[in-house]
Amino acid sequence: HHAKEHGVEFSRYTAAMKMRTQSRVELENDMRKGLEREEFFLEFQPQIGLDTGKMLGMEALVRWNHPKRGLLPPSEFIPLAEDSGLIVPLGEWVLKTACQYNKKWQDEGYDPVCVSVNLSMRQFRQYNLTERIDSILQEVGLDPRYLELEVTESMTYDIDTALEQLYRLKKLGIHISIDDFGTGYSSLYYLKSLPIDRLKIDRSFVKEVMCDGNDAAIVSTITTMAHHLKLKVTAEGVENQEQLEFLKLQNCHEGQGYLFSKPVPASEFESKFLSRKAG
Ligand code: C2E
Ligand code: MG
Ligand code: MG
Ligand code: MG
Repeated sequence: HHAKEHGVEFSRYTAAMKMRTQSRVELENDMRKGLEREEFFLEFQPQIGLDTGKMLGMEALVRWNHPKRGLLPPSEFIPLAEDSGLIVPLGEWVLKTACQYNKKWQDEGYDPVCVSVNLSMRQFRQYNLTERIDSILQEVGLDPRYLELEVTESMTYDIDTALEQLYRLKKLGIHISIDDFGTGYSSLYYLKSLPIDRLKIDRSFVKEVMCDGNDAAIVSTITTMAHHLKLKVTAEGVENQEQLEFLKLQNCHEGQGYLFSKPVPASEFESKFLSRKAG
C-alpha cells in the first residue's frame, strides 16, 4: 500500500521534473525566436541626484513580451539566459538598444544623461568585450561618457582577469558601477584597486533602513566609504520619504526607486523625465 503511494508520488515528481525541463528547453527556444522577433523591450528608471532632485541618469531594464506567457520580468528569464549562454546576444541587444535610445534623445535636444546597462558575468568574461562595446558605441554614435556598465561583485572571483577587463573598459571612457553592492563577497582590498566609478547599495539594505539599526549602519558605512574612496554612491530601492531623508543626511549622491518612479517604457520615460536643454 505504502509502496504504491510512494510510487505514485515518485512518478508525479518525475513528471513535474520532466515538465520543468521541457518548459526550460521550450523557454530557451522561445528566447532565441523572441530575439529575432523583437519581443524584448527596455524600460527605463530614473536615477535622481538627492541634493537637487534632478535626474542624473537612467537604468535600462529588459522585459520580455512573451507571445503566450505575457509580460515576463527579468527574474523569469535572465537566469535561464545565463545558463544557456543566450545572455550574450540578449545582453548585446540591450546594450545597443539602450545606447540607441540615449543617442536619439540627445539628437532630439534633450539634456544628455548617462544610461546604465546591466552586464552579466558571462558577458563580462568575454575576451573581446571592450572591442564589442567599442564597436556598438561607434555604430550608434554615442559618446562613451554617456554609458555606464553595472557589474556585480562576483566579477572579483577572478581578480586578475577582472582588473584587466575593467581597465580596458575604462580606457574606452565609459563608467563602471558595482550593482547590488554589499550582497557579494568583494573584499575591501579589491575595492581599493578596482577602477570603478560608483557603488550601488543593494536595496535589501535600504528597505529596512528606518527600522533596522544594522541596515542603517551598513548604508551609512558604505556611503562614507564611497566618499573616502572618491566613488559615487547610489541607493537602490528608495520607496519612501523617510528613507530619502536618511540617505540625504548621509550625503548619499543618488537614489533610484519607486519613490521617484518605477521603470517605465521609453516613450513614457521621454515625456516624464527628459528635459530640453536650457537656451
Ligand atoms: P538591478 O540591476 O539591481 O535592477 C534594479 C531592480 O530593482 C529592477 O528590477 C527594478 O525594477 C527594481 N526596483 C527599482 N526600484 C525599486 C524599489 O523602489 N523597490 C523595489 N522593490 N524594487 C525596485 P527588474 O527590472 O525586475 O530587474 C531585476 C534584475 O534583473 C536587475 O536588478 C538585474 O540584475 C537584472 N536585469 C535586468 N535587466 C537586465 C539586463 O538587461 N541584463 C542583465 N544581465 N540583467 C538584467
Ligand atoms: Mg542594475
Ligand atoms: Mg541592483
Ligand atoms: Mg542586479
